[in-house]
Amino acid sequence: MEKIKMTTPLVEMDGDEMTRILWKMIKDELLLPFVDLKTEYYDLGLIEREKTKDQITIDSANAAKKYGVAVKCATITPNKQRVEEYNLSEMWKSPNGTIRSILDGTVFRAPIIIDTIKPVVKNWKKPITIARHAYGDVYKDTEFRIEEPGKAELLFTSQNGDVQRQTIYDFECAGVLQGLYNKDSSIESFAHSCFKYAIDTKQDLWFSTKDTISKKYDQTFKLKFQDIYEKCYKEEFEKLGITYFYTLIDDAVARVIRSEGGFIWALKNYDGDVMSDMVSTAFGSLAMMTSVLVSPDGKYEYEAAHGTVTRHYYRYLKGEETSTNPMATIFAWSGALRKRGEFDGLNDLIKFADNLEKACIDTLLDGIMTKDLVNLVEEGVKVKAVTSKEFILEIKKHLTALYN
Ligand code: NAP
Ligand code: MG
Repeated sequence: MEKIKMTTPLVEMDGDEMTRILWKMIKDELLLPFVDLKTEYYDLGLIEREKTKDQITIDSANAAKKYGVAVKCATITPNKQRVEEYNLSEMWKSPNGTIRSILDGTVFRAPIIIDTIKPVVKNWKKPITIARHAYGDVYKDTEFRIEEPGKAELLFTSQNGDVQRQTIYDFECAGVLQGLYNKDSSIESFAHSCFKYAIDTKQDLWFSTKDTISKKYDQTFKLKFQDIYEKCYKEEFEKLGITYFYTLIDDAVARVIRSEGGFIWALKNYDGDVMSDMVSTAFGSLAMMTSVLVSPDGKYEYEAAHGTVTRHYYRYLKGEETSTNPMATIFAWSGALRKRGEFDGLNDLIKFADNLEKACIDTLLDGIMTKDLVNLVEEGVKVKAVTSKEFILEIKKHLTALYN
């Protein structure tokens, strides 16, 4: 067949360990034979980050800003042990954190679902996408332990010296104290990203906070979302027949469990952290979770939700063929190629993204899968556990068949 053409490059962010190995297999077997792949390549592997003093991460994020679509491989976030392992001159920051702050984006996570793996919540029929506000709150808090009685106050001094002051609590004993903040600009970016992504994927958007208890803090989130919805997105939502729906988080939890899925659930930072773990576990495997960073001005960075699968990598280095699941990484590529196709009006590229995903799902429905999925499959379904390489080659067979 003639290879599918691209016009604008995709920003390609390579990564580390086992996912770096999968990255190359995916490109060699599933992309390059079919697509005249145009990418601007950034190596975010830890060795290159060290070499460039992490400038490569910043450059890649700026390229994502420029071109509008990026695809990223999982990367190591250095800790003390990694600093020794890779002989790092510094404990470089999480690339995801750096890219997120440059794009000012929100992360949307959704499971890939197939008929033979049923979610733990039996009425969930469609994916639930979690949107987590990844800025501020308890993740940027200031905490004291109080060891003796005394008065705790909340104090704000404005630039021109005006003071707002309120007693938090008159401690008669030891205790704990916590200060939180967030910024209007960040909440607004979060809201824009959520509304944009809902329109993009034509799904309802739910948002929940604890505004009945937190009458200023959470209330600000609620009001900003409502205001931005009415001013910027209501018309488009109505045209598409999708809804924006705010409810108290307690009510949202009950409704989510009883729902059949198929919507985006936007949450504050802590709520999103906890609820995304609950939702992804209930849907099955971390290896089947996709993730996309969306900026308020509509730039997209696609990736898998899982990490570099270090344990498998060490086995790979010993010469073992591993059975690491490439699904979420393949879907990062298909998501990015589809979006590039939409931006550039390339129907063949959009169709290729659909076909690639179909080939993956068909392979799984044939019972051919990596080890992590075997125990999740419904009773009675015949399965064959294969290595990553065998799995990718099986997908290639299905994909090739779709073009013959
Ligand atoms: P991980 O790479 O997600 O792997 C944790 C475990 O989950 C694996 O050991 C494996 O379990 C299972 N798993 C995850 N993805 C899988 C897949 N595709 N196929 C099969 N099994 C899969 O998390 P981690 O071990 O905590 O972190 C490893 C490195 O990744 C760290 O350096 C961390 O900084 C980095 N990380 C990066 C990102 C990112 O770039 N977005 C996200 C998270 C973590 P079994 O070993 O039991 O098979
Ligand atoms: Mg968590």
